Amino acid sequence: MDNYQHVLLAADFSEHGSVVALKAQHLAKQHQAKLSIIHLLDNLPITDTTYGPIIPFDMDLNDLLMTSAKKQLAELGKTLGIPEQQQYLEIGSAALEIVSTAEEHKVDLIVLGSHGRHGLALLLGSTANGVLHHAQCDVLAVRLQDN
Ligand code: AMP
Repeated sequence: MDNYQHVLLAADFSEHGSVVALKAQHLAKQHQAKLSIIHLLDNLPITDTTYGPIIPFDMDLNDLLMTSAKKQLAELGKTLGIPEQQQYLEIGSAALEIVSTAEEHKVDLIVLGSHGRHGLALLLGSTANGVLHHAQCDVLAVRLQDN
């Protein structure tokens, strides 16, 4: 099997996230691959209309969410030794953005959790499910225990 060249960690900053992060880091080291992280801000109150995107209320809240996400991403990047240019912070649907960012940056392995904040009771969360169905590259869904 050829070595992976570029591993993308999908980080949702949930409590089990470190298990997924360590697995991605370990795999990247094993394969001497580049490691990048992506986080999606998927719940900003932005409405896409014919006139372009509109933020209907509370700009401050959006700024706050963005600042906090940037901080968490930078902290995780520092812990994992990932340079800033390989830390992707996007707005949009997690599954879709993970898949398109992976394509854009020639990622050959996406690592995510079997579930996260949205799927604690499910075997496979909606993001993992969406990515598995749409990604062009390999996907590792790290099995997380519900405890
Ligand atoms: P979920 O669909 O919420 O059960 O999440 C499954 C996995 O997808 C998580 O363990 C993360 O690895 C990834 N994920 C979920 N939401 C996000 C997000 N907003 N940004 C990046 N990765 C995410």
